[in-house]
Amino acid sequence: MPTANHKKAYRGRFAPSPSGPLHFGSLLAATASYLQARQQQGEWWLRIEDIDPPREVKGASQQIIDTLALYGFEWDNLTYQSQRLALYQGYLEKLQQASLTYPCACSRKEIQQFNAQQSKPAGLYPGTCRSGLNGKMARSIRIKITAPIQTLHDTIQGSQTSDLSRTTGDFILKRADGLFSYQLAVAIDDSTQGMTQIVRGYDLHASSFCQQYIQQVLGLDSPDYAHIPVAVTPDGIKLSKQSAAQDIATQPPRQVLWQALTILGQQPPANLKTQSLKHLWQWGFANWNLSSVPQAQSVLSPF
Ligand code: GLU
Repeated sequence: MPTANHKKAYRGRFAPSPSGPLHFGSLLAATASYLQARQQQGEWWLRIEDIDPPREVKGASQQIIDTLALYGFEWDNLTYQSQRLALYQGYLEKLQQASLTYPCACSRKEIQQFNAQQSKPAGLYPGTCRSGLNGKMARSIRIKITAPIQTLHDTIQGSQTSDLSRTTGDFILKRADGLFSYQLAVAIDDSTQGMTQIVRGYDLHASSFCQQYIQQVLGLDSPDYAHIPVAVTPDGIKLSKQSAAQDIATQPPRQVLWQALTILGQQPPANLKTQSLKHLWQWGFANWNLSSVPQAQSVLSPF
């Protein structure tokens, strides 16, 4: 029987968006989250974040799943965000009923122009429509941020405080094209799917404040966070489809995984490169140590 101080069983996840094939940067997040979950004798879920059809590349979901299988990952559950739209709508309505949202008529261009004139960060929403639409047509739905100071506890990067009124402002929950925002879907999924710790790239560190905020106002549990360094090109650009990152399905898995473990500070022995994939994973399960992951925001990608 669970008691009041019963600790939730560990559950982690890897949550790729099907916007292209798996590259080394995503592999780092997959490897770190997988080994952390296995080391905690927990579950590791694979969640395909397919709620942005304009950015989706046909066939990429299956391609990512196949590459993860080729690399020897074994997941305990496979979920698709596209099958959870009613849930996101339900939580959006809860926020609406609590008067924690408002419709917004501003275009991205208008916001950018305003911020440029005021020397404010480009992505910050100035709150123009908070007091009404002024007869304009609603485009998106935004969250009303009532407690902007958020502290995030990160096992790798340490604790940090962010003032959401200076970084994002009232961010979007439902976009002008009618799609749910990444922040809303991830916040709801991580909490309702019972994730206890999120291990992912530092590029999403700023998003964690937004996601934690959504969970807080909805009265949902928030997971713990651990942001690993992001793999970048020699020019400091994050590996992505835009930076023409290589598809790791074309590389030898053992060598790529060995590189991933090295970059993640785990110091794998050199002979693991030539042994079986099973052997490599066994070494990872036995030796993984989250506290050896470098406390850095980025690392140079070897690919
Ligand atoms: N789907 C996001 C991506 O591929 C990551 C989401 C997350 O880990 O929270 O960049």
